[in-house]
Amino acid sequence: MACPCGSKLEYSDCCQPLHEGKDYAKTAEQLMRSRYSAFAKKQEQYILDTWYPSMRNDELNLKKDPTWWTGLEIVDTAGGLEADSKGEVEFIASYTVRKKEFKLHERSSFVQEDGHWFYVDGQLSP
Ligand SMILES: [Zn+2]
Repeated sequence: MACPCGSKLEYSDCCQPLHEGKDYAKTAEQLMRSRYSAFAKKQEQYILDTWYPSMRNDELNLKKDPTWWTGLEIVDTAGGLEADSKGEVEFIASYTVRKKEFKLHERSSFVQEDGHWFYVDGQLSP
């Protein structure tokens, strides 16, 4: 099964080990991709665990969420590499809600602390 993040890799060779805690994202883009596929796979705990604690929305309830994520395109990145402490990733995520198609265009901010990347927040339609 292809990974939802659009890497063209198998899910088991891509985001699944991250979702299962067997590996972790080395770059902000990898974290962004794995969070996207966690939304697609309704891996709620992973989304919470990779969300910067003070910014986290604990109300997240994906089981009742009618969103179907259908594609991810990375538009731009800044920083976010292994040696960086901050990064930005701009992306367009496609999704459908009750058969209507939408696009989410966001520029997200990430920080790396103790070797782990976290999502901080995002700006819509930059
Ligand atoms: Zn993936």
